[in-house]
Amino acid sequence: MTARIIDGKAVAAALRARVAEVAAGLAATYGKAPGLAVVLVGEDPASQVYVGSKVKMTTEAGLRSIEHVLPATTSEADLLALVAKLNADPEIDGILVQLPLPKQIDADKVIAAIDPAKDVDGFHPVNAGKLATGTGGLVPCTPLGCLKLLKTVRDDLSGLDAVVVGRSNIVGKPMAALLLAESCTVTVAHSRTRDLPEVCRRADILVAAVGRPEMIKGDWVKPGAIVIDVGINRIDAPEKGPGKTRLVGDVAYDEAAAKAEWITPVPGGVGPMTIACLLANTVTAACARRGWAAPAL
Ligand code: NDP
Repeated sequence: MTARIIDGKAVAAALRARVAEVAAGLAATYGKAPGLAVVLVGEDPASQVYVGSKVKMTTEAGLRSIEHVLPATTSEADLLALVAKLNADPEIDGILVQLPLPKQIDADKVIAAIDPAKDVDGFHPVNAGKLATGTGGLVPCTPLGCLKLLKTVRDDLSGLDAVVVGRSNIVGKPMAALLLAESCTVTVAHSRTRDLPEVCRRADILVAAVGRPEMIKGDWVKPGAIVIDVGINRIDAPEKGPGKTRLVGDVAYDEAAAKAEWITPVPGGVGPMTIACLLANTVTAACARRGWAAPAL
């Protein structure tokens, strides 16, 4: 079997187009498009690229983008003061503080300071708790994007065995909660899991969120599984020339594609969904906060 590719780029483009349509409708009805504030502290090159893409796509979708760029020497107190100002600003619907933060700043403290109603990253403990208890709230963008990709190939996930490799607060744990809410039987694997290949072989749905290039091998994949590769790893690519690099996921793609029914590529799979879901969350947050009729996204 050769897996069919889940085209995250196309699914993300369709979601962004839907967000743009909804944003235009909201602007026409209420006189204002939802506004997203993005805060970047320091000059981490990867973060600069992410923030640049977020700002560009926010604007392209017809949302308002408000950018705050602070120096790497910013104190925790100053960042908390900015978050408090954005919380209080009625024109701001979503707040995203780009991680990682410089080491003098406690990221957990900053996340906890964001108004949960404006927490479009879905990282605030209140939103994590709502997800765990199935009581709504804003859902982290990457796992939300993974679920949307899964739904493009299989509408009903109930009863399926899902294995999530990775238990971070931003990907693994919320992914597991979303799959449980879909009535999957969920296993969360991590660095202490015994016999990980055997655990993975049980998975009808295998989500890899580890951060280790091509760790998940083809013979870990159950024939006919759906494989979602969250990993983004840059590795050396001497075949492309001296000093060249390329992006790979956490799954050994060619091997896994020979076993799976569906698979996400890297790049072009989960990655583009993260920003599209951020825009969707901004619209969701704006509607919930302002009492606007919430459109389907
Ligand atoms: P973290 O480093 O926070 O978490 C990694 C998880 O993988 C941990 O739970 C860790 O286990 C587990 N792990 C590490 N090594 C092993 C191993 N050998 N066997 C089994 N489990 C292992 O990473 P993130 O969740 O933030 O990100 C994961 C990947 O997803 C990264 O490649 C990242 O770049 C990518 N990513 C992609 C996004 C996108 O938009 N596509 C967005 C966010 C992340 P333990 O808890 O025991 O240490």
